[in-house]
Amino acid sequence: MKDSTDKIAPLVRQFLIALGEDPDREGLAKTPERVAQSLRFLTAGYSKNLKDEINDAIFETGSNDMVIVRDIEVYSLCEHHMLPFFGRCHIGYIARNKVLGVSKLARIMDVFARRLQIQERLTNQIAEAVRDATGAEGVGVVMECRHLCMMMRGVEKQNSVMTTSSVLGSFRRNAATRAEFMNLVK
Ligand code: ZN
Repeated sequence: MKDSTDKIAPLVRQFLIALGEDPDREGLAKTPERVAQSLRFLTAGYSKNLKDEINDAIFETGSNDMVIVRDIEVYSLCEHHMLPFFGRCHIGYIARNKVLGVSKLARIMDVFARRLQIQERLTNQIAEAVRDATGAEGVGVVMECRHLCMMMRGVEKQNSVMTTSSVLGSFRRNAATRAEFMNLVK
């Protein structure tokens, strides 16, 4: 991790010069290191794996009802502009005798969110990871995000929220199950 921060910092310095800044002025003196460390944190998902994050926090349960966790905060970076997108993620699944600890859903999400992403792929990767971890018979993920690349530049649409969803298994096959999930997360 240290190595790659060491590699990124000099590039940020060059980047500041290319932008027309003076990287030696006081306010920017430590900026290359800070940006490098910040980028390492925001892309830490590349060096994480799901198995370690879940860490066996899977519990047996007798019931096979729908489990829903709403309003998990999500922060990611768009791969087209490397600008943040952020918002809320709702995850639901119908267990097949196995449920995940609630905090683990957020951890699974961050393995994929802390990378360069597009919202559609992020939504789908979370759904597949929850299915694979729990063996759930169905999974649904809805994500509602604002994209700074749209808000600060480009079309400058400050209030638009992009909604993506991914449904797998019984959530895809069964319209009533899907509707129940969508109702509960709205
Ligand atoms: Zn973008």
